[in-house]
Amino acid sequence: MDCCICGPMASVYRPPRNTICSSCYEGAKRMIIFLNEQEENQPKLYGLKPTPSKGIADAFTRIEEMEERKEEMNEKLGFLESLVVALEDEIHTDILIKPGTGPPIPAHRALLATRSEIFKNILASDECKAPAEDSISLPELTHEELKCLLEFLYSGSLPLEMAKQHSFALLIAADKYDIPFLKKFCERQISSSLDPSNALQVLEVSDACSNGILREQAMNSIVRHVDEVVFSSSYEEFALKNAHLSVEITRALVMQMRDRRDGATLCVEPS
Ligand SMILES: [Zn+2]
Repeated sequence: MDCCICGPMASVYRPPRNTICSSCYEGAKRMIIFLNEQEENQPKLYGLKPTPSKGIADAFTRIEEMEERKEEMNEKLGFLESLVVALEDEIHTDILIKPGTGPPIPAHRALLATRSEIFKNILASDECKAPAEDSISLPELTHEELKCLLEFLYSGSLPLEMAKQHSFALLIAADKYDIPFLKKFCERQISSSLDPSNALQVLEVSDACSNGILREQAMNSIVRHVDEVVFSSSYEEFALKNAHLSVEITRALVMQMRDRRDGATLCVEPS
């Protein structure tokens, strides 16, 4: 069938008795549903009345408007990201952050206090107890990890390589210093790189910071790739360090075996 939208003769078709292919039909329907959902959510943000889409031409106008808003957001983001220059060039810094290893990094009290309630409390108590104190220590982080943490706090993102390399340490820091946006960022990063080779490490870290989402994903990966994980050299070391997690892995494996056996029984029974 020649589609009047995407077919080779599309430019010569004129309404009203033309046909469209199932892909264009489904796409158009889904686009209007998506835009109407967006429209329903928007009034909550801007106090506007929702107006359902009136067709594809109207939907296209809305997509153009969304693109304009995206441009505005990008400009705003670029404007806010310039804060990171103050960190890199040490402009009017007023506190030193000491990592566990390596040299300290100068930063800004006000920024730290706005990004984390925990930092806010640490800095506030410093003012009361020791006004002359001009440094705080984060001994669990190396210099490189601290650099990443600060860059994220100033810019709201991290280059992919840095994010990949330090996502575990940053997830623990996000949990400890209560930085939900960093936690989400690390969750996405770790989840996208989860495979049998790092599943034990993901399970260990997600357990340490009570991250239910990653914990479940790691456990599922271990159960799915049990031979690869349980017979690896790192499993012995892991089991010695994390007895309670090893028990959970064993239970998950037994459950899986039981499910498979029950599934097999169900398949056999009818005959
Ligand atoms: Zn089509």
